[in-house]
Amino acid sequence: MHITIDPDLCEGNAVCEALAPLVFELDDQDQARVLPEAHGPGDEVAEEHRTLVERAVGGCPRLAIDVLD
Ligand code: SF4
Repeated sequence: MHITIDPDLCEGNAVCEALAPLVFELDDQDQARVLPEAHGPGDEVAEEHRTLVERAVGGCPRLAIDVLD
């Protein structure tokens, strides 16, 4: 799956990191990003993380995370 995080919406509250720490982290600008190690081949996030990703998508209060299958 491909994940995008809208930097204009993300407010850096780290909810995604708390819900899915194997997938998301805040960078030094307090913007969420996908951990490099969560990626499988190419730019896709490994399918094994789907449940955690869906939790973070549902928990993000800014609706900043999108998942494209
Ligand atoms: S939960 Fe949403 S607003 Fe909060 S850091 Fe993650 S992407 Fe940004």
